[in-house]
Amino acid sequence: MSEGLKKVYIETLGCQMNKSDSERIYGILSHFNYIPCEDENEADFCVVNTCSIRKLSEDKAYSKLGVWGKIKKERPLKIGICGCVAQQEGENLLKRFPYVDLVFGTQNIYELPQLFNNEGRICAVRENPIKENDFNIIRSKSLNAWLPIIEGCNNFCSYCVVPYTRGRERSREPQRIINEAKSILKQGFREITLLGQNVDSYGKDLPDKPTLAYLLRQIDALEGDFRIRFTTSYPTDITDELIDTVKNSKKICECFHIPMQSGSDRVLKAMNRRYDRKTYGEIVKKIRDNIKDVTITSDFIAGFPSETREEFEMTLSAFDEFELDYSNTAAYSPRPKTPAAKWVDKYVDENEKKERLAILNDKVKEMSLKSNEKYVGRVLEVLVESYKNGKFEGRTRNNKVVHIEANDINVGDFVDVKITKASTWCLFGEYKN
Ligand code: SF4
Repeated sequence: MSEGLKKVYIETLGCQMNKSDSERIYGILSHFNYIPCEDENEADFCVVNTCSIRKLSEDKAYSKLGVWGKIKKERPLKIGICGCVAQQEGENLLKRFPYVDLVFGTQNIYELPQLFNNEGRICAVRENPIKENDFNIIRSKSLNAWLPIIEGCNNFCSYCVVPYTRGRERSREPQRIINEAKSILKQGFREITLLGQNVDSYGKDLPDKPTLAYLLRQIDALEGDFRIRFTTSYPTDITDELIDTVKNSKKICECFHIPMQSGSDRVLKAMNRRYDRKTYGEIVKKIRDNIKDVTITSDFIAGFPSETREEFEMTLSAFDEFELDYSNTAAYSPRPKTPAAKWVDKYVDENEKKERLAILNDKVKEMSLKSNEKYVGRVLEVLVESYKNGKFEGRTRNNKVVHIEANDINVGDFVDVKITKASTWCLFGEYKN
Protein backbone atom coordinates (compact mmCIF):
# COMPACT_ATOMS: atom_id res chain seq x y z
CA MET A 1 0.00 0.00 0.00
CA SER A 2 1.36 3.46 -0.91
CA GLU A 3 2.56 5.71 1.87
CA GLY A 4 -0.26 7.73 3.45
CA LEU A 5 -3.09 5.52 2.16
CA LYS A 6 -5.67 4.39 4.73
CA LYS A 7 -8.34 1.74 4.53
CA VAL A 8 -12.09 2.22 4.87
CA TYR A 9 -14.63 -0.55 5.36
CA ILE A 10 -18.35 0.13 4.83
CA GLU A 11 -20.95 -2.33 6.08
CA THR A 12 -24.00 -1.62 3.93
CA LEU A 13 -27.41 -2.69 5.17
CA GLY A 14 -30.74 -2.33 3.39
CA CYS A 15 -31.75 -1.31 -0.08
CA GLN A 16 -30.05 -0.58 -3.40
CA MET A 17 -30.14 3.15 -2.62
CA ASN A 18 -27.93 2.47 0.40
CA LYS A 19 -25.59 0.40 -1.76
CA SER A 20 -25.40 3.25 -4.21
CA ASP A 21 -24.76 5.74 -1.38
CA SER A 22 -21.90 3.56 -0.11
CA GLU A 23 -20.30 3.68 -3.57
CA ARG A 24 -20.44 7.48 -3.37
CA ILE A 25 -19.03 7.50 0.16
CA TYR A 26 -16.11 5.28 -0.92
CA GLY A 27 -15.58 7.69 -3.81
CA ILE A 28 -15.60 10.82 -1.62
CA LEU A 29 -13.24 9.20 0.88
CA SER A 30 -10.83 8.36 -1.95
CA HIS A 31 -10.17 12.14 -2.10
CA PHE A 32 -8.86 11.78 1.49
CA ASN A 33 -6.49 8.91 0.61
CA TYR A 34 -8.85 6.19 1.84
CA ILE A 35 -9.12 3.02 -0.22
CA PRO A 36 -11.93 0.45 0.20
CA CYS A 37 -11.12 -2.77 2.07
CA GLU A 38 -13.16 -5.92 2.55
CA ASP A 39 -12.04 -6.80 6.07
CA GLU A 40 -13.15 -4.64 8.97
CA ASN A 41 -10.18 -5.93 10.99
CA GLU A 42 -7.79 -4.18 8.60
CA ALA A 43 -9.68 -0.89 8.38
CA ASP A 44 -8.64 2.51 9.73
CA PHE A 45 -12.19 3.78 9.32
CA CYS A 46 -15.33 1.62 9.66
CA VAL A 47 -18.74 2.95 8.64
CA VAL A 48 -22.12 1.27 8.92
CA ASN A 49 -24.60 2.52 6.33
CA THR A 50 -27.87 1.73 8.04
CA CYS A 51 -31.44 0.82 7.19
CA SER A 52 -34.38 1.50 9.49
CA ILE A 53 -37.17 -0.07 7.48
CA ARG A 54 -37.44 -2.78 10.15
CA LYS A 55 -36.35 -3.03 13.77
CA LEU A 56 -34.17 -6.01 12.87
CA SER A 57 -32.03 -3.99 10.43
CA GLU A 58 -31.65 -1.22 13.01
CA ASP A 59 -30.46 -3.74 15.63
CA LYS A 60 -27.95 -5.17 13.14
CA ALA A 61 -26.33 -1.72 12.83
CA TYR A 62 -26.05 -1.35 16.61
CA SER A 63 -24.47 -4.76 16.96
CA LYS A 64 -21.89 -3.81 14.28
CA LEU A 65 -21.02 -0.66 16.24
CA GLY A 66 -20.53 -2.82 19.35
CA VAL A 67 -18.04 -5.06 17.51
CA TRP A 68 -16.06 -2.06 16.29
CA GLY A 69 -16.15 -0.47 19.75
CA LYS A 70 -14.28 -3.55 21.04
CA ILE A 71 -11.71 -3.34 18.20
CA LYS A 72 -11.18 0.35 19.05
CA LYS A 73 -10.10 -0.62 22.57
CA GLU A 74 -7.17 -2.52 21.02
CA ARG A 75 -6.05 -0.09 18.28
CA PRO A 76 -6.84 3.31 16.72
CA LEU A 77 -10.06 3.17 14.68
CA LYS A 78 -12.39 5.85 13.39
CA ILE A 79 -16.06 4.76 13.52
CA GLY A 80 -18.93 6.27 11.54
CA ILE A 81 -22.64 5.63 11.15
CA CYS A 82 -24.74 6.97 8.29
CA GLY A 83 -27.97 6.19 6.45
CA CYS A 84 -31.53 6.04 7.72
CA VAL A 85 -30.83 5.13 11.37
CA ALA A 86 -28.30 7.99 11.58
CA GLN A 87 -30.91 10.37 10.17
CA GLN A 88 -33.55 9.05 12.56
CA GLU A 89 -31.47 9.00 15.76
CA GLY A 90 -28.94 11.81 15.17
CA GLU A 91 -27.12 13.06 18.32
CA ASN A 92 -28.57 10.20 20.40
CA LEU A 93 -26.10 7.90 18.67
CA LEU A 94 -23.12 9.91 19.93
CA LYS A 95 -24.53 9.65 23.46
CA ARG A 96 -25.40 5.97 23.23
CA PHE A 97 -22.15 4.87 21.55
CA PRO A 98 -19.27 6.89 23.05
CA TYR A 99 -16.78 5.33 20.63
CA VAL A 100 -18.58 6.61 17.50
CA ASP A 101 -16.75 9.54 15.87
CA LEU A 102 -19.05 10.54 13.06
CA VAL A 103 -22.82 10.43 12.47
CA PHE A 104 -24.06 11.68 9.11
CA GLY A 105 -27.53 11.56 7.64
CA THR A 106 -28.93 10.53 4.28
CA GLN A 107 -28.72 14.10 2.94
CA ASN A 108 -25.23 14.83 4.26
CA ILE A 109 -23.02 12.54 2.19
CA TYR A 110 -21.67 15.44 0.13
CA GLU A 111 -20.73 17.27 3.33
CA LEU A 112 -18.18 14.58 4.18
CA PRO A 113 -15.20 16.71 3.02
CA GLN A 114 -16.12 19.46 5.51
CA LEU A 115 -16.93 16.93 8.26
CA PHE A 116 -13.56 15.29 7.76
CA ASN A 117 -11.78 18.59 8.30
CA ASN A 118 -13.45 19.07 11.68
CA GLU A 119 -11.92 17.91 14.94
CA GLY A 120 -13.83 15.89 17.52
CA ARG A 121 -17.02 13.87 17.40
CA ILE A 122 -19.56 15.15 14.90
CA CYS A 123 -23.21 14.67 14.05
CA ALA A 124 -24.57 16.07 10.75
CA VAL A 125 -28.16 15.18 9.99
CA ARG A 126 -29.42 18.50 8.64
CA GLU A 127 -31.92 18.67 5.81
CA ASN A 128 -31.17 20.63 2.61
CA PRO A 129 -27.41 20.37 2.82
CA ILE A 130 -24.93 21.53 0.18
CA LYS A 131 -25.51 20.30 -3.35
CA GLU A 132 -23.81 17.20 -4.73
CA ASN A 133 -20.42 17.63 -6.31
CA ASP A 134 -18.26 15.84 -8.88
CA PHE A 135 -16.56 13.44 -6.51
CA ASN A 136 -15.34 9.98 -7.50
CA ILE A 137 -17.77 7.07 -7.30
CA ILE A 138 -16.25 3.67 -6.54
CA ARG A 139 -18.79 1.19 -7.85
CA SER A 140 -19.04 -2.23 -6.25
CA LYS A 141 -19.93 -4.17 -9.39
CA SER A 142 -18.27 -4.13 -12.77
CA LEU A 143 -21.25 -4.74 -15.07
CA ASN A 144 -24.29 -3.37 -13.26
CA ALA A 145 -24.29 0.26 -12.16
CA TRP A 146 -26.81 1.94 -9.89
CA LEU A 147 -27.78 5.45 -10.88
CA PRO A 148 -29.93 7.35 -8.35
CA ILE A 149 -32.37 9.75 -10.02
CA ILE A 150 -34.63 10.79 -7.15
CA GLU A 151 -34.38 10.54 -3.41
CA GLY A 152 -37.00 10.72 -0.67
CA CYS A 153 -40.73 10.13 -0.76
CA ASN A 154 -43.87 12.26 -0.33
CA ASN A 155 -46.31 9.39 0.04
CA PHE A 156 -46.34 8.85 3.81
CA CYS A 157 -47.64 5.29 3.81
CA SER A 158 -48.72 4.78 7.40
CA TYR A 159 -46.13 2.06 8.17
CA CYS A 160 -43.13 3.56 6.40
CA VAL A 161 -40.24 5.50 7.87
CA VAL A 162 -38.71 6.57 4.54
CA PRO A 163 -40.29 10.08 4.30
CA TYR A 164 -38.82 10.78 7.76
CA THR A 165 -35.37 9.34 7.11
CA ARG A 166 -34.87 10.20 3.43
CA GLY A 167 -36.92 13.38 3.42
CA ARG A 168 -39.23 14.72 0.72
CA GLU A 169 -38.74 13.90 -2.96
CA ARG A 170 -35.70 15.54 -4.54
CA SER A 171 -34.93 14.81 -8.20
CA ARG A 172 -31.44 15.09 -9.59
CA GLU A 173 -30.90 17.34 -12.62
CA PRO A 174 -31.50 15.35 -15.85
CA GLN A 175 -28.24 16.50 -17.44
CA ARG A 176 -26.27 15.36 -14.38
CA ILE A 177 -27.94 11.92 -14.62
CA ILE A 178 -27.32 11.64 -18.37
CA ASN A 179 -23.68 12.65 -17.92
CA GLU A 180 -23.31 10.04 -15.19
CA ALA A 181 -24.89 7.43 -17.50
CA LYS A 182 -22.37 8.34 -20.22
CA SER A 183 -19.50 8.00 -17.79
CA ILE A 184 -20.84 4.61 -16.58
CA LEU A 185 -20.97 3.35 -20.18
CA LYS A 186 -17.48 4.68 -20.91
CA GLN A 187 -16.23 2.55 -18.01
CA GLY A 188 -17.64 -0.57 -19.71
CA PHE A 189 -20.76 -1.23 -17.62
CA ARG A 190 -23.47 -3.24 -19.39
CA GLU A 191 -26.47 -2.34 -17.28
CA ILE A 192 -27.73 0.84 -15.62
CA THR A 193 -30.46 0.73 -12.97
CA LEU A 194 -32.20 4.04 -12.31
CA LEU A 195 -32.96 4.20 -8.60
CA GLY A 196 -35.43 6.00 -6.41
CA GLN A 197 -37.90 5.29 -3.61
CA ASN A 198 -40.54 6.33 -6.13
CA VAL A 199 -38.98 6.69 -9.60
CA ASP A 200 -42.28 7.65 -11.23
CA SER A 201 -42.27 10.90 -9.26
CA TYR A 202 -39.07 11.87 -11.02
CA GLY A 203 -38.97 15.49 -12.16
CA LYS A 204 -42.15 16.74 -10.47
CA ASP A 205 -40.00 19.06 -8.33
CA LEU A 206 -37.83 20.31 -11.22
CA PRO A 207 -38.55 23.46 -13.27
CA ASP A 208 -39.26 21.79 -16.65
CA LYS A 209 -40.95 18.75 -15.09
CA PRO A 210 -38.95 16.11 -17.00
CA THR A 211 -40.53 12.67 -16.58
CA LEU A 212 -39.03 9.27 -15.88
CA ALA A 213 -40.05 8.27 -19.42
CA TYR A 214 -38.14 11.26 -20.83
CA LEU A 215 -35.06 10.32 -18.85
CA LEU A 216 -35.30 6.69 -19.97
CA ARG A 217 -35.55 7.77 -23.61
CA GLN A 218 -32.47 9.98 -23.28
CA ILE A 219 -30.46 7.12 -21.82
CA ASP A 220 -31.89 4.61 -24.31
CA ALA A 221 -30.57 6.85 -27.10
CA LEU A 222 -26.97 6.68 -25.82
CA GLU A 223 -24.58 4.64 -27.95
CA GLY A 224 -23.58 1.16 -26.89
CA ASP A 225 -24.80 -2.32 -26.10
CA PHE A 226 -26.36 -2.12 -22.65
CA ARG A 227 -29.53 -2.53 -20.63
CA ILE A 228 -31.55 -0.09 -18.56
CA ARG A 229 -33.67 -0.92 -15.52
CA PHE A 230 -35.60 1.25 -13.08
CA THR A 231 -37.01 0.72 -9.59
CA THR A 232 -39.23 1.28 -7.51
CA SER A 233 -42.62 2.20 -8.99
CA TYR A 234 -45.69 3.40 -7.10
CA PRO A 235 -48.71 1.72 -8.78
CA THR A 236 -50.82 4.77 -9.60
CA ASP A 237 -47.85 6.88 -10.70
CA ILE A 238 -47.08 4.58 -13.64
CA THR A 239 -48.06 6.53 -16.75
CA ASP A 240 -49.05 5.47 -20.26
CA GLU A 241 -46.00 7.43 -21.43
CA LEU A 242 -43.78 5.17 -19.31
CA ILE A 243 -45.42 1.96 -20.56
CA ASP A 244 -45.06 3.15 -24.19
CA THR A 245 -41.45 4.09 -23.59
CA VAL A 246 -40.58 0.66 -22.23
CA LYS A 247 -42.50 -1.00 -25.07
CA ASN A 248 -40.80 1.01 -27.82
CA SER A 249 -37.26 1.15 -26.50
CA LYS A 250 -34.41 -1.21 -27.35
CA LYS A 251 -32.53 -1.15 -24.09
CA ILE A 252 -35.10 -0.73 -21.33
CA CYS A 253 -35.77 -4.11 -19.73
CA GLU A 254 -39.25 -5.54 -19.38
CA CYS A 255 -39.57 -5.49 -15.59
CA PHE A 256 -41.69 -3.44 -13.25
CA HIS A 257 -41.32 -3.58 -9.48
CA ILE A 258 -44.71 -2.40 -8.21
CA PRO A 259 -45.26 -2.93 -4.46
CA MET A 260 -48.88 -3.77 -3.72
CA GLN A 261 -48.41 -4.32 0.07
CA SER A 262 -51.85 -5.88 0.66
CA GLY A 263 -54.64 -7.49 -1.34
CA SER A 264 -57.35 -6.02 0.90
CA ASP A 265 -58.90 -2.63 0.13
CA ARG A 266 -59.52 -1.90 3.82
CA VAL A 267 -55.90 -2.63 4.72
CA LEU A 268 -54.63 -0.58 1.75
CA LYS A 269 -56.65 2.36 3.05
CA ALA A 270 -55.25 1.92 6.55
CA MET A 271 -51.78 1.82 4.98
CA ASN A 272 -52.55 5.14 3.26
CA ARG A 273 -51.86 3.62 -0.14
CA ARG A 274 -53.60 5.61 -2.88
CA TYR A 275 -55.16 2.73 -4.83
CA ASP A 276 -57.44 -0.22 -4.35
CA ARG A 277 -57.13 -3.81 -5.53
CA LYS A 278 -59.11 -3.15 -8.70
CA THR A 279 -56.92 -0.20 -9.69
CA TYR A 280 -53.73 -2.20 -9.03
CA GLY A 281 -55.11 -4.97 -11.26
CA GLU A 282 -55.91 -2.51 -14.06
CA ILE A 283 -52.36 -1.15 -14.02
CA VAL A 284 -50.86 -4.64 -14.10
CA LYS A 285 -53.17 -5.62 -16.97
CA LYS A 286 -52.27 -2.54 -18.97
CA ILE A 287 -48.56 -3.33 -18.59
CA ARG A 288 -49.01 -7.00 -19.49
CA ASP A 289 -51.23 -6.15 -22.50
CA ASN A 290 -48.56 -3.83 -23.88
CA ILE A 291 -45.26 -5.44 -22.98
CA LYS A 292 -44.47 -9.01 -23.98
CA ASP A 293 -42.73 -11.23 -21.41
CA VAL A 294 -42.82 -8.50 -18.78
CA THR A 295 -41.95 -9.50 -15.21
CA ILE A 296 -44.02 -7.83 -12.51
CA THR A 297 -42.73 -8.07 -8.95
CA SER A 298 -44.14 -6.69 -5.74
CA ASP A 299 -43.70 -6.16 -1.99
CA PHE A 300 -46.17 -7.40 0.63
CA ILE A 301 -46.44 -6.95 4.39
CA ALA A 302 -47.81 -9.76 6.59
CA GLY A 303 -49.63 -8.86 9.80
CA PHE A 304 -50.21 -5.13 9.35
CA PRO A 305 -52.04 -3.83 12.50
CA SER A 306 -55.67 -5.01 12.45
CA GLU A 307 -55.21 -7.25 9.38
CA THR A 308 -57.67 -10.13 9.74
CA ARG A 309 -57.00 -13.65 8.52
CA GLU A 310 -59.55 -13.09 5.77
CA GLU A 311 -57.79 -9.91 4.65
CA PHE A 312 -54.47 -11.72 4.66
CA GLU A 313 -55.99 -14.36 2.40
CA MET A 314 -56.94 -11.60 -0.02
CA THR A 315 -53.21 -10.89 -0.33
CA LEU A 316 -52.62 -14.53 -1.25
CA SER A 317 -55.35 -14.44 -3.86
CA ALA A 318 -53.89 -11.22 -5.34
CA PHE A 319 -50.79 -13.21 -6.32
CA ASP A 320 -52.92 -15.55 -8.42
CA GLU A 321 -55.24 -12.91 -9.80
CA PHE A 322 -52.40 -10.65 -11.00
CA GLU A 323 -49.98 -13.51 -11.78
CA LEU A 324 -47.19 -11.77 -9.91
CA ASP A 325 -43.79 -13.20 -10.80
CA TYR A 326 -42.11 -12.61 -7.45
CA SER A 327 -42.46 -10.55 -4.30
CA ASN A 328 -40.37 -9.33 -1.39
CA THR A 329 -42.14 -10.05 1.88
CA ALA A 330 -41.85 -8.83 5.44
CA ALA A 331 -43.67 -9.18 8.73
CA TYR A 332 -45.00 -5.82 9.86
CA SER A 333 -42.49 -3.98 12.05
CA PRO A 334 -43.53 -0.78 13.91
CA ARG A 335 -41.26 2.15 13.02
CA PRO A 336 -40.73 5.38 14.95
CA LYS A 337 -42.80 8.42 13.92
CA THR A 338 -45.14 6.41 11.68
CA PRO A 339 -48.91 6.47 12.35
CA ALA A 340 -49.26 2.68 12.29
CA ALA A 341 -46.72 2.31 15.12
CA LYS A 342 -49.25 3.98 17.44
CA TRP A 343 -51.94 1.36 16.77
CA VAL A 344 -50.49 -0.94 19.43
CA ASP A 345 -53.92 -2.24 20.40
CA LYS A 346 -54.39 -3.50 16.85
CA TYR A 347 -51.08 -5.36 16.47
CA VAL A 348 -51.39 -8.86 15.12
CA ASP A 349 -50.04 -11.45 17.56
CA GLU A 350 -46.35 -12.26 16.84
CA ASN A 351 -46.94 -15.97 16.24
CA GLU A 352 -49.79 -15.26 13.89
CA LYS A 353 -47.61 -12.74 12.05
CA LYS A 354 -44.82 -15.33 11.70
CA GLU A 355 -47.28 -17.89 10.41
CA ARG A 356 -48.69 -15.46 7.83
CA LEU A 357 -45.19 -14.55 6.67
CA ALA A 358 -44.32 -18.23 6.21
CA ILE A 359 -47.51 -18.79 4.18
CA LEU A 360 -46.74 -15.69 2.12
CA ASN A 361 -43.22 -16.93 1.43
CA ASP A 362 -44.59 -20.28 0.26
CA LYS A 363 -46.87 -18.40 -2.11
CA VAL A 364 -43.91 -16.43 -3.46
CA LYS A 365 -42.04 -19.69 -4.11
CA GLU A 366 -45.06 -21.17 -5.91
CA MET A 367 -45.47 -18.06 -8.10
CA SER A 368 -41.76 -17.80 -8.85
CA LEU A 369 -41.61 -21.41 -10.05
CA LYS A 370 -44.75 -20.93 -12.14
CA SER A 371 -43.29 -17.77 -13.67
CA ASN A 372 -39.97 -19.46 -14.46
CA GLU A 373 -41.60 -22.54 -16.00
CA LYS A 374 -43.15 -20.35 -18.71
CA TYR A 375 -39.74 -19.93 -20.28
CA VAL A 376 -38.67 -23.58 -20.64
CA GLY A 377 -38.04 -24.28 -24.34
CA ARG A 378 -37.66 -20.58 -25.20
CA VAL A 379 -34.48 -18.84 -26.38
CA LEU A 380 -33.75 -15.76 -24.26
CA GLU A 381 -31.12 -13.06 -24.40
CA VAL A 382 -28.90 -13.30 -21.33
CA LEU A 383 -26.25 -10.91 -20.05
CA VAL A 384 -23.45 -13.10 -18.69
CA GLU A 385 -22.68 -11.68 -15.25
CA SER A 386 -20.35 -14.14 -13.55
CA TYR A 387 -18.42 -17.38 -13.79
CA LYS A 388 -18.48 -19.58 -10.67
CA ASN A 389 -17.67 -23.26 -10.09
CA GLY A 390 -17.33 -23.98 -13.79
CA LYS A 391 -20.72 -22.42 -14.64
CA PHE A 392 -21.66 -19.11 -16.20
CA GLU A 393 -24.52 -17.19 -14.66
CA GLY A 394 -26.48 -14.30 -16.10
CA ARG A 395 -29.82 -12.54 -16.27
CA THR A 396 -32.53 -12.30 -18.88
CA ARG A 397 -33.99 -8.92 -19.85
CA ASN A 398 -36.93 -9.64 -17.54
CA ASN A 399 -34.54 -10.30 -14.65
CA LYS A 400 -34.52 -14.08 -14.39
CA VAL A 401 -31.27 -15.63 -13.20
CA VAL A 402 -29.96 -18.22 -15.68
CA HIS A 403 -27.24 -20.85 -15.19
CA ILE A 404 -25.66 -21.33 -18.59
CA GLU A 405 -23.91 -24.38 -20.04
CA ALA A 406 -21.24 -22.93 -22.32
CA ASN A 407 -17.53 -22.91 -23.06
CA ASP A 408 -16.80 -20.08 -25.41
CA ILE A 409 -18.58 -17.11 -23.83
CA ASN A 410 -17.30 -14.35 -21.57
CA VAL A 411 -18.60 -12.38 -18.62
CA GLY A 412 -20.11 -9.19 -20.10
CA ASP A 413 -21.39 -10.88 -23.29
CA PHE A 414 -25.02 -10.78 -24.39
CA VAL A 415 -25.81 -14.33 -25.50
CA ASP A 416 -28.83 -16.33 -26.65
CA VAL A 417 -29.62 -19.17 -24.28
CA LYS A 418 -32.06 -22.02 -24.84
CA ILE A 419 -33.86 -22.58 -21.53
CA THR A 420 -33.93 -26.28 -20.66
CA LYS A 421 -35.13 -26.32 -17.06
CA ALA A 422 -36.77 -24.09 -14.45
CA SER A 423 -36.45 -24.14 -10.68
CA THR A 424 -38.00 -21.87 -8.05
CA TRP A 425 -35.34 -19.18 -8.15
CA CYS A 426 -33.56 -19.65 -11.48
CA LEU A 427 -33.51 -21.04 -14.99
CA PHE A 428 -31.02 -23.42 -16.60
CA GLY A 429 -30.03 -23.28 -20.23
CA GLU A 430 -27.58 -23.93 -23.02
CA TYR A 431 -25.74 -21.32 -24.99
CA LYS A 432 -27.01 -21.25 -28.57
CA ASN A 433 -24.20 -20.24 -30.89
S1 SF4 B 1 -44.20 4.92 -1.31
FE1 SF4 B 1 -42.64 3.51 -0.53
S2 SF4 B 1 -41.00 4.78 0.31
FE2 SF4 B 1 -42.80 6.10 0.06
S3 SF4 B 1 -43.81 6.07 2.07
FE3 SF4 B 1 -44.79 4.47 0.82
S4 SF4 B 1 -43.65 2.57 1.27
FE4 SF4 B 1 -42.39 4.33 2.02
